[in-house]
Amino acid sequence: MNCLFCKIVEGSIPSKALYQDELCYAFADINPQAPTHVLVVPRQHISSLAEATDNDTPLVGHMVSAAAEIARAGGLSKGYRVVINTGDDGGQTVDHLHVHLLGGRPLTWPPG
Ligand code: AMP
Ligand code: ZN
Repeated sequence: MNCLFCKIVEGSIPSKALYQDELCYAFADINPQAPTHVLVVPRQHISSLAEATDNDTPLVGHMVSAAAEIARAGGLSKGYRVVINTGDDGGQTVDHLHVHLLGGRPLTWPPG
């Protein structure tokens, strides 16, 4: 499958690994929108949150927990944001489920 994040997970496209376990892989976003900008992706290909099923609920929870752990380890004690862009209106540009972890500066709301 021609999927950018599958290739990053398997290592054929390089990335800066920040966390990994049996279910997910986390790496630095190539175009950071905040001082900390990490992507957490499942090792298995799921194209978006909209495509996730009930079977994937533990995996999605695990990814969010991994983001919180990365935030703790990265010293984001003042707070951070976790985002899952989904579909065209959600601004999703890579069709492999991913959690954005953003932090290290005050983040405004609402997003664009
Ligand atoms: P989204 O727009 O929510 O689908 O997020 C996709 C993210 O992937 C964007 O923030 C991109 O900057 C990031 N991205 C694209 N290519 C790479 C890459 N090769 N390595 C790391 N991050 C990437
Ligand atoms: Zn994929």
